[in-house]
Amino acid sequence: MTVHDLHCHSTASDGTLSPGALVRHAASVGVDVLALTDHDTTAGIAEAGREAAVQGLTLLPGVEISVSWRGATVHIVGLRVDPDDHALATGLARLRAFRDWRAQEIGRRLAEKGIPGAYEGARARSGGALIGRTHFARFLVARGYARDTREVFRHYLVRGKPGHVAGDWAGLDEAVGWIRNAGGRAVIAHPARYRMTRTRLRKLIAEFRDAGGEALEVVSGSHSRDEAYTMARHAADFGLLASAGSDYHGPENPWVEMGRLADLPPGCRPVWHDWSLVTGTA
Ligand code: AMP
Ligand code: MN
Ligand code: MN
Ligand code: MN
Repeated sequence: MTVHDLHCHSTASDGTLSPGALVRHAASVGVDVLALTDHDTTAGIAEAGREAAVQGLTLLPGVEISVSWRGATVHIVGLRVDPDDHALATGLARLRAFRDWRAQEIGRRLAEKGIPGAYEGARARSGGALIGRTHFARFLVARGYARDTREVFRHYLVRGKPGHVAGDWAGLDEAVGWIRNAGGRAVIAHPARYRMTRTRLRKLIAEFRDAGGEALEVVSGSHSRDEAYTMARHAADFGLLASAGSDYHGPENPWVEMGRLADLPPGCRPVWHDWSLVTGTA
């Protein structure tokens, strides 16, 4: 059986393994087809593709685009995108510019609350790549403000907390359009994580499908088995394909591993059903 893992992060965004090390790790745990889906960047894909050729696994170029939708932030994964597509590259550059501004703003707000140096600390942890809230979380844990990154998010980085800055990300139609124009397939990432009511989630799915979106991430490292079955029903109801990805960010999160995802629930049509893949970048 071919093991697919279609969602993970490298140091190009908020993962802790370099693209090459990530691919070596994926190969070592038995992944055959890996999509690198860093937040709002495709900067890691070239290095990952080179290592995939060495390891003999298939690396799919991907991206996880931050989207603002009706007051919420949702994530849209693009699979098999052309990383050199101009409109996609321009769109992602805009989101990264917002990230740079947001990071400084988060730093200012935390400083006002008596936590100095957070912007510089997060920036150092980003290794010069894009800055995410995860980099702030790692800084705050290192400085003893919280026990782990989850606690940082809960106390500092979510709505209503001192370091929260509202997102100003891509529109849903816009993100799906970038992905499709770059030859890719759009997937709603970890749909159960948004804590939306069923009605609101189905509104998101309907608008996503109308925009040209093709799949739901049914199996995710952050979904329970019940949530996977619920999402499989939504996918079937809307005629969408089903994807599977760990959302691996590195070995520091031992509860999320690559290559150990549960099978898609019965009746799902895999997002990879019509892909014929060869080893290397595909
Ligand atoms: P950003 O895109 O910079 O706003 O950060 C979003 C990222 O933060 C997600 O991709 C996760 O990696 C991480 N994240 C979000 N919520 C949490 C949480 N409650 N605990 C730990 N990490 C989280
Ligand atoms: Mn992340
Ligand atoms: Mn996500
Ligand atoms: Mn992710």
